[in-house]
Amino acid sequence: KPKVWVLGNGQLGAMLTHAGEPLAIEVHAVNIMTPTDEILPLAPHDIITAEREQWPESALSLQLSSHPHFVNGPVFSRLADRFSQKSLLEQLNVPTAPWVLVDDTTQVATLYQDYGPRVLMKRRTGGYDGKGQHWLKQAEAGDIPHDWRNLAIAEQAINFDEEISLVGVRTRAGECVFYPLTLNLHQDGILMASIAPLTRLNHLQTQAETMLSAIIHELDYVGVMAMECFRVGDKLLVNELAPRVHNSGHWTQAGTHMDQFQLHLRALCGVTIPQPQVNFQCVMVNLIAIEHDPRWLSLPNAELYWYNKEVRPGRKVGHLNLSVPNMTVFENSITALQAWMPAQYQAPLAWILAELT
Ligand code: ATP
Ligand code: MG
Ligand code: MG
Repeated sequence: KPKVWVLGNGQLGAMLTHAGEPLAIEVHAVNIMTPTDEILPLAPHDIITAEREQWPESALSLQLSSHPHFVNGPVFSRLADRFSQKSLLEQLNVPTAPWVLVDDTTQVATLYQDYGPRVLMKRRTGGYDGKGQHWLKQAEAGDIPHDWRNLAIAEQAINFDEEISLVGVRTRAGECVFYPLTLNLHQDGILMASIAPLTRLNHLQTQAETMLSAIIHELDYVGVMAMECFRVGDKLLVNELAPRVHNSGHWTQAGTHMDQFQLHLRALCGVTIPQPQVNFQCVMVNLIAIEHDPRWLSLPNAELYWYNKEVRPGRKVGHLNLSVPNMTVFENSITALQAWMPAQYQAPLAWILAELT
């Protein structure tokens, strides 16, 4: 029986491993971030995937990424570079925030002229959780720092109504299955909370599915991909794509009968994929730079995923999935979290209550 090897052994790799167990799919999440001379006992029929878009080159990462069954191999570098990712969206006529490559000739005045008084520069590679971003503000006479030239794109600041994402899967046969849209709240560039499904987003589902379908078919992609969007009125603009299981899909662990991790493994291993059933509306709260609180486990509608990582500023150390069996149970849990959690959670918790009550 083929094994699945994952480039990366963070929380996504751990949750993929966990999802493999009931399917009797043996998953090994591999640490490719710390240098080692180790080589793995890969079999020719094994399957390789990744929990991240980029990794350092080493004998180990090369062994995995050069395996003939490294699924979506060429996609990673194509999407990990914002220049080629944005170019792909443009080529497919998928709407995205207006952008340009920042090179030696880029003039900041032209950026303000084309995009308005606020322009967001993003590093072409390596950015996550809002890291690797730099705002240019005309009012502050911001200029392009020397060390951002040729390494970044510049985007128009989008005055969006809200952020939503679509998580979907494509099988080896080219069939696509999607979850309902997720509503996301970011704070300082980092995902704080997600809600799904929401009936008020239903009218955007087909639009989003058409966009992500075009992308994954073009890439001949197999497995789960996430598409982050800005909603501007009734129109969606793609913010970015993630060729992997995604934080905004974590609610599927509590809300559906088949979560995104299982969906990804099924696609990789050629197992049938029915449309996942949604059993509950769910809220996901990311635990960021916060110590473990045993009281979380007392909430009747909560599932805690604790990543067992050292707590550091801005670092995701776990998430809570709260299902909505009824409004009383749900509101009681949110009220408890409001009392237990520090200041930076008050806005996300209020946002959740405002959306659901
Ligand atoms: P992730 O952890 O999701 O991979 P990232 O570091 O790759 O994040 P983005 O998703 O591109 O970065 O941006 C992070 C957040 O910054 C977005 O979710 C959004 O809130 C805000 N943002 C990004 N681009 C724009 C834009 N063009 N206009 C306004 N806000 C933006
Ligand atoms: Mg990103
Ligand atoms: Mg993002």
